[in-house]
Amino acid sequence: TGFQALNRNDVQEIWRKDHDHFLHPWTHFDSFKKDGSLIMAAAEGAYVYDASGKRYLDGIGGLWCVNIGYGRREIAEAISRQALQLAYFNPFVDTTNIPAAELAAKLAELAPGSLNHVFFTCGGSTANDTAVRLIQYYQSRRGKRDKVHVICRRDGYHGSTYLTGSMSGKPADRSPNLHFITDFVHHVSSPNVYRRPEGMSEEAFCDQLVAELEAKILELGADKVAAFFAEPVLGAGGVIVPPKGYHQKTRELCRKLDVIYVSDEVVTGFGRLGHFFASKDVFGIEPDIIICAKGLTSGYQPLGACIYSDAIHEVISAPDPDGWFTNGYTYSGHPIACAAGLANIELMEREDLCGHVREVGPYLMQQLNTLRDLPIVGDVRGHHFMMCVENVADPATKELFPDEVNIGKRIADHCERLGLIVRPIGALNIISPPLVLTRAQVDELVGILRQSIEATMKDLKAEGFMKA
Ligand code: PLP
Repeated sequence: TGFQALNRNDVQEIWRKDHDHFLHPWTHFDSFKKDGSLIMAAAEGAYVYDASGKRYLDGIGGLWCVNIGYGRREIAEAISRQALQLAYFNPFVDTTNIPAAELAAKLAELAPGSLNHVFFTCGGSTANDTAVRLIQYYQSRRGKRDKVHVICRRDGYHGSTYLTGSMSGKPADRSPNLHFITDFVHHVSSPNVYRRPEGMSEEAFCDQLVAELEAKILELGADKVAAFFAEPVLGAGGVIVPPKGYHQKTRELCRKLDVIYVSDEVVTGFGRLGHFFASKDVFGIEPDIIICAKGLTSGYQPLGACIYSDAIHEVISAPDPDGWFTNGYTYSGHPIACAAGLANIELMEREDLCGHVREVGPYLMQQLNTLRDLPIVGDVRGHHFMMCVENVADPATKELFPDEVNIGKRIADHCERLGLIVRPIGALNIISPPLVLTRAQVDELVGILRQSIEATMKDLKAEGFMKA
């Protein structure tokens, strides 16, 4: 990559600056104070290198986002060209720029059906935030001023602005020391098939979830519910693939009760499940709005998009005697970010990365499933390049280890030592690699993960958390 590894003292110095001054997202201060952060310094293809020059297979694609892999010259050149040509100009109505116009049209072409309009943001949180404001404005403009309530799901993740942090439903992220919007944001159950009620079939579980959503809409009043937000596969909440039929049934219900259906495809979009968008091509539904970010630029630039339907556009674009839709950011449609997005899509199409995921994804799923013979692997789930392993104390009862064991982190630490990055979330290890991963790299990933789980079991036995 051209990067020269730093010597020990220089690494220490960067570590100290980071430790003393950089507040990271979701910092666990207990471990951070002691260990600080691993400094990543360079990357190529599916591998990242730390500041000392140690190589790791990136099992998480940066943060489910570096879909085309690292060090792609085409993207770097597109960014550089655009920075020199026009780094920035304001997007507030009277002016636009070439990459933003081109990318909006390209997204309209890629998105299903009548989703032909795009609002650009700085990432996924701001795209979901925008969607709520857009929907509330739309409902009001249709004369439905009270239709403001939003329904999301426990274990859902939609971002961390005040509004999207309130929409997210991961129990561990709802600290009593933080404030959340509760007057118009509501949650229904997580569609977690692995953790469904004991003895219930997947079909009955699906029906129960759909009935619960219907009851929630009717309890609030269909004339008061504006939208339902759902990730096609819940990501940060635990790579949860809802039960069969759930997508269609919830979509139909929203149509019947006049509720806008928003598909949050921040992770599932841009090839991770083998298609540009998973809603229609994987799960057979056409939402009113699709949210994307991450893979939209493969993480080379920060960018998000709220892609919405002709029907919504027709309403919000009619003359408003009371004002207008006052929403947007300095960097909405940023020319450099949009140039990166365009180059990213071009590269994905040229190399047929979606086709590659459809071919290698089933192999990744199959190989990860071989880990089920290990006595602490309770579940292996996900879809193509969006996977996780759930580690449990007893696969028969699905009982978890005590929190203090920090099982996901322990396994991830062993992986890191052995040259693989996986992401720990509670009892889970998340696997969401760059989409360019080869079969040989799948073998490398699963091999190291197996070794790390085995090493962790040895530690747990020595510490008395498992029977020897
Ligand atoms: N929505 C989903 C499904 C996500 O996974 C994320 C981030 O992980 C977001 C929204 C928030 O995106 P960002 O972190 O770019 O604001």
